[in-house]
Amino acid sequence: MTVETAQVPAYRTFPVQVARVQRLGESFLRVTFTGPELDVFASNGWDQRIKVMLPLPGRGVVDCPAGDDWYGEWRALPPERQMPIRTYTVRAARPELLEVDVDFVLHGATGPASAWAESAAAGDEVVLVGPNARFPGPTGGYEWHPPADASCLLIAGDETAVPAICAIVESLPEGRHARVLLEVPTAGDALNVAAPRGVEISWLPRRTGSGSAPRGQLLTAAVVATVRELGERLAPSPTAELAEVDVDAEILWEVPDAAPGRGSSGVYAWLAGEAGVVKGLRRHLVRDVGVDRRSVAFMGYWREGRDSD
Ligand SMILES: Cc1cc2nc3c(=O)[nH]c(=O)nc-3n(C[C@H](O)[C@H](O)[C@H](O)COP(=O)(O)OP(=O)(O)OC[C@H]3O[C@@H](n4cnc5c(N)ncnc54)[C@H](O)[C@@H]3O)c2cc1C
Repeated sequence: MTVETAQVPAYRTFPVQVARVQRLGESFLRVTFTGPELDVFASNGWDQRIKVMLPLPGRGVVDCPAGDDWYGEWRALPPERQMPIRTYTVRAARPELLEVDVDFVLHGATGPASAWAESAAAGDEVVLVGPNARFPGPTGGYEWHPPADASCLLIAGDETAVPAICAIVESLPEGRHARVLLEVPTAGDALNVAAPRGVEISWLPRRTGSGSAPRGQLLTAAVVATVRELGERLAPSPTAELAEVDVDAEILWEVPDAAPGRGSSGVYAWLAGEAGVVKGLRRHLVRDVGVDRRSVAFMGYWREGRDSD
């Protein structure tokens, strides 16, 4: 490795603007970004995460960091010029067209990202921090690591995980057995997914004509039922010890690097969504059922009542 390539960062900033927006469902807005440097945006697929640096009122993106140490630059800014930064998923990347799609959940004007997306229009500028195709190794930034021999994939999440889950599902090979559980705000949020043969998708809308289920209730019930059905195929843990995570004080992010193979009977699970809900699922899988944590990625994508600052 030359000195020059060793200094290339795995993630870098990409100044972009909105090319177009498309309403996908009641709560989902697809924003297609374009920018002259997106030809070197690495297109890894799966649940690839990125950061979105949002414009500051009256200043736009003029203060957004541009160097390799973008986070250090951001921290060095005076607080009133530190633009909000939020984590999102690459729904699709087309570097050859200089385009990246990000699907935003519209949850009202409470958060800067959701508020920005509500009124996003062609020409609006943001800065993305994303994987760099010039980096000589794996750029990382995704947690989808199923063992090749897992016979069943359990993929579950709420609306914030829908973009990641749709991208994962669409990348699966034909015939790979996957159970996919998606809790979304309304029936109008059940999106079209190009699911290969072998994938069973259940959309679980919280709000229906007959009322509204509390957040997480449907997802939890569906995961519990699916886990019961999968029974023996879930890898039992050597110990079912579990250190509880205080989701109001720390991030719930427990992901195996490489899940252990279990011959042809193993299940690999990927669970993401509101941290309190994921915490409950983690407790059920690890403590109650005794699932091997090395077979499950648990990710608190956001915390109800708390902004992501
Ligand atoms: C790896 C990763 C990938 C993600 N990918 C996506 C993605 O592709 N699309 C996506 O929409 N989100 C995604 N998220 C979640 C997103 O980062 C959070 O929802 C974030 O809080 C949104 O920022 P905000 O500025 O809108 O709200 P914030 O300023 O962070 O929060 C303001 C308020 O809104 C609440 N809130 C935040 N999100 C929601 C929500 N979805 N529904 C209801 N209330 C909410 C907060 O609890 C808080 O009370 C991802 C998160 C992670 C960690």
